[in-house]
Amino acid sequence: MTAHDRGFDGVERRGLMFVLSSPSGAGKTTLSRLLIERVEGLSLSVSATTRPMRPGEVDGRDYKFVDDATFAAMVKHNDLLEWAVVFDNRYGTPRAPVYAALASGRDVLFDIDWQGTQQLREKARADVVSVFILPPSATDLERRLHTRAQDADHVIRERMDRATHELSHWAEYDYIVINQNVDEAFAEVQSILKAERLKRERRTGLTAFVRELQRQLET
Ligand code: 5GP
Repeated sequence: MTAHDRGFDGVERRGLMFVLSSPSGAGKTTLSRLLIERVEGLSLSVSATTRPMRPGEVDGRDYKFVDDATFAAMVKHNDLLEWAVVFDNRYGTPRAPVYAALASGRDVLFDIDWQGTQQLREKARADVVSVFILPPSATDLERRLHTRAQDADHVIRERMDRATHELSHWAEYDYIVINQNVDEAFAEVQSILKAERLKRERRTGLTAFVRELQRQLET
């Protein structure tokens, strides 16, 4: 599952799988949106889910909303790169668009939970860069869940419980960003991506590039 592209500086490099996870309400969706809007060469992996659509969501943009039978068929046909049950609904990453994006020289952004991150890591460890977003406090997380007001009270309560569980996986991630202020958190996430893109082992064309530099210096 590797892809090679010509990086922004002309040196070939391998595409990476950039994962953002967080408890619900820590601002991960906003950060994902900003990344897609402002960072070149990055495609969002749109997950399939069996959960009902929320107001304001668009099928095919936020999720591919599917019924249980369709999801089961995707699992059966091995169409999903990973999948998991979250809040009693199933969520999964369609495999084909991820491969297509990587093959065309783009990096891929995933907004998935810790279960999906573990599965991706097992399949493509060298290409996965994972970031866990923390809320600055429990009060802040609760406030954001209530402000969103798209879910019933008992759903919000359930999400707070899940948040505690999701939080327990923070140490499995490569990077931790505390989302006190969205602009700062975005700058931090962007820096992580920039640095990871420059990693030597990802820059497959570097040997040839340096050799050419040496040759030119010698002549
Ligand atoms: P929500 O229903 O609030 O959009 O998402 C609930 C949780 O499911 C979030 O933590 C989100 O990251 C996670 N999630 C969304 N898509 C996927 C996916 O394709 N795979 C996995 N494992 N988790 C996902």
